[in-house]
Amino acid sequence: MNLKRTLGLDILGEKYAYATDAVTGYTSAQKIPNHWVSTTCGYCSVGCGMFVGVKDGRAVSVRGNPNHRANFGTLCPKGLSEHYTLESENRARYPLLRKNGALVRVDWNEALATMAEKFRGVQEKYGPDALGVLSTGQLVTEEFFALGKLVQLGLGSKNFDGNTTLCMSSAVSGYKRSFGSDGPPGSYEDLAIADVVFLIGANIADNHPILCQWLEANPNKTLIVADPRVTKTAMMADLFLPLKPRSDIALINGMIHLLIEKNLVDHQYIAQHTTGFEALKQSVRAYTPAHVSQITGLTTEQIFKAAWIYGNAKAPFIGWTMGVNHSTKGTETVNAINNLALITGNIGRPGASPFSITGQCNAMGTREAGFTSSLPGYRKFENAEDREELAAIWGVSAERIPNSRGLAYPDIIEATLAKKIRALWVIATNPIVSYPNLDVLTQSLENLDFFVVQDGFHPTPTSERADLVLPAAIWGEKEGTYTNSERRVSKVNRAVNPPGEARSDFEIFLALAKECGCYEELFAGWNQPKDAFEEWKKVSAGRLCDYSGMDYEWIEKSGGIQWPFPAGSTEVKTTRLYSDGIFPTDDGKARLLPIEWKPFPEQPNAQFPFVLNTGRTVEHWHTRTKTSQVPILERMSPNAWLEMNPRDATSLHLKPHDRVDVESARGRVCGVELRITEIIAPGQVFMPFHFAETNVNQVTQSAFDPISREPNYKQCAVRVIKTAGSLESRGER
Ligand code: SF4
Repeated sequence: MNLKRTLGLDILGEKYAYATDAVTGYTSAQKIPNHWVSTTCGYCSVGCGMFVGVKDGRAVSVRGNPNHRANFGTLCPKGLSEHYTLESENRARYPLLRKNGALVRVDWNEALATMAEKFRGVQEKYGPDALGVLSTGQLVTEEFFALGKLVQLGLGSKNFDGNTTLCMSSAVSGYKRSFGSDGPPGSYEDLAIADVVFLIGANIADNHPILCQWLEANPNKTLIVADPRVTKTAMMADLFLPLKPRSDIALINGMIHLLIEKNLVDHQYIAQHTTGFEALKQSVRAYTPAHVSQITGLTTEQIFKAAWIYGNAKAPFIGWTMGVNHSTKGTETVNAINNLALITGNIGRPGASPFSITGQCNAMGTREAGFTSSLPGYRKFENAEDREELAAIWGVSAERIPNSRGLAYPDIIEATLAKKIRALWVIATNPIVSYPNLDVLTQSLENLDFFVVQDGFHPTPTSERADLVLPAAIWGEKEGTYTNSERRVSKVNRAVNPPGEARSDFEIFLALAKECGCYEELFAGWNQPKDAFEEWKKVSAGRLCDYSGMDYEWIEKSGGIQWPFPAGSTEVKTTRLYSDGIFPTDDGKARLLPIEWKPFPEQPNAQFPFVLNTGRTVEHWHTRTKTSQVPILERMSPNAWLEMNPRDATSLHLKPHDRVDVESARGRVCGVELRITEIIAPGQVFMPFHFAETNVNQVTQSAFDPISREPNYKQCAVRVIKTAGSLESRGER
C-alpha cells in the first residue's frame, strides 16, 4: 500500500514533472540524463544511430543521433523505447544449473566448469560434432568472431549456425550463386535517388520503418510493391501488385520475358559482365503475360506495367525481405531478382541495385565473420587457398580449418532428434517461439544430454528447458560493432552495467576458452572487444568485406562506415559493390540462372482450405522477449490476431473479435482474436509470429529451402474454427 496515496497526497507529481534539458529542451524531468552515451539500435538491421541517456547509472531515455548516416536522428517506436528493455523483470541475473530437476543459482566457476566438462564428456563419447551451437544476429561482430574460433578450433565442432538462417540465409545463398559472394550491393542512399523502387515481399513500414524516411526523401520515384497482403507499405505504392502467395518467381520471369521481347535489356552489360543469357532467355519463353497472369492472379496489364516501368527506368532499385527469403524457393527467388537487375545493367550504379534488407541488428556481421555459411571474410570452406590464408593469419595448421560447412540450423535440430547431437548451446535466441513446427523442436530438445542457454533474459520458453542458463549482457551493456543492411559498420557502446552477475557474451566466450584450455592458443592477450576487432581487421583485409581501414573512433565520429574500407582509406563515402562490373567468380562475370516457378509445397485442400501467411508488426521484435517488457509497445499490441477476408468470415459465420483456433496437419493455435479485413485476400489468413502465448509455429511446417536451409514459414494450409467454450461458440454474445 502506498502511504502517500492513502493519505490522499499527490503521488504522480514527480512522475509527470517537466524540466528543460540542454539537448532535448522541455521534456519529462525523469528522462533528463546526467550524460548521453552514443550507440546503435539493437533491434533491426536498419542500424539507427542513437544516444542513451544515463542518470545515476540507469538508462532513462533514448534519442536519435542526427549525425548517423542510417537514420539522421529519427527512430521508430522500438528504438525510442529501447532503454526499457534493460531493466525488465525477466532479465537473467545469475548462472543457473539444473539440480534434482530444478534450476538453482550457482557461481560462474561452477557454471563454466560444468559446461566444459559436459561438452567434453559428450564429445569424447559421441565424437566432436555431437556438440551443436546456435547463435544469433544479436551479438556484436567481435563476439561472433570470437565464438566462431572458439567453437570450430577450440571445441572442435563444425555444427555451428545461427538464427540468421531463419531469416536471411536465402539472400546469402542467392548472392553467392549469382555474384560469387555474399554482400548486398546497394546502399540506403539508392532508395532516395532511384527513379523506380520495386519492393518484393518487403513490408518496410512495419519491419524497417526508418527506411521509409529514405523513400520519402525521393518524391519523384515510382514505387512498385508486390505482396499478397495490402500491407502498410503496399498502401504507399504507385503500383501495387497483389500477387498470389509465392508466385513472385513467375512475375519476375514474366517481366524478364517482356523486357527481352521489347528489347529493354542492356546487351552490352550482358555480354561483358554476365554468363548464361541464352539459357535464361530460353527458360523465360514460357512465361508469357497470359501464363504469368494465371499463376500470379495479376492482370496482364499489371504485368506489362511493372515490366514497362522497370525496363524504362534509368536507375531502378529492387528491395526484398522475408516475403522472398521465407520459402523453399527463397534462394532461387533471389537469383531471379538478380537476373532482372543484371540483364538491365542495374547494379553498382547510384540508385540501381538488387538489395536484400536484412533482419537483425547484426545479421550482416555474422555473415561476414563467418563460420556459419562461409569462413571469416567470405572465404569458402572448399577453397584450399582460403583455408591456408586464414590459418596463416591465425598461426594454426590449415588442417584445422574445416573444409566443408557443418550442419545448418534445421539440420542441427534434425540431428538432435536423431540423437547425433547430444549437447546444444543456444545463444541469445528463443527457438521455442521462433522455430517452425514446434513439436519437432520440443521432441529434439528432449533428446539432449546437456542443454545450455546463454541469454540476457530468463525465463524464456527456451531457457526454462535448459540444464544451464548463463546470464548475458544485452544492448546498452556491452561494446563492439554492428553492421547494418547497407554494409555500414556502427559502434555499439556500454551505457550501463548488466544486472546481477550477468556478463557480456564476449567475456563468457573468453572465460569458457580458459576453462577449456584454448585461450592462450586462440585468444592470447584478448581482454576486450577491441582486441577481436583488430584481429578481424587483419582477417578481412583484402576481402570484399574489408574493414582494415577502420578504427572505433573513426566509425563513431563518421556516423558509421560502410565496407569495403581498406587500409589507407582517407574518406568516408557511400560505397556500392560491383560498380566496375567485376564479380568475385572464377571469370569475373555474374551468373544468369534459369529459375523455374513451382507451386509452394503445402497447397490448401478441403480439410485445410486457407493459406496461412506469417509476419511481423512494428511494435514487436521477434519472440517479444524484449518488447513485451516495454509498456508502450506491449499496450499498443498485446495479443496475436488472425486477419481474414470478410467474404471468408461470412461463409464461416465469424464476427470481428471472435476467438478462433487455427489448425494445420501438425498442430493448433487456440483462442486467437479475429480481425476481419480486406487487407488479406479471400482464401488467405495472416498471423504475426511474435507471441509465445499463441505461437503460430505450432502450425507451421518443416519445409526448408534445399540450398539455404531457410524455413518456409509462410504458406501452410490451415483451417479456422471458432474456439470451443468461447462466449461466441456458447451463443452468449
Ligand atoms: S528502424 Fe530498426 S534500427 Fe531503427 S530504431 Fe527502429 S528498430 Fe531500431
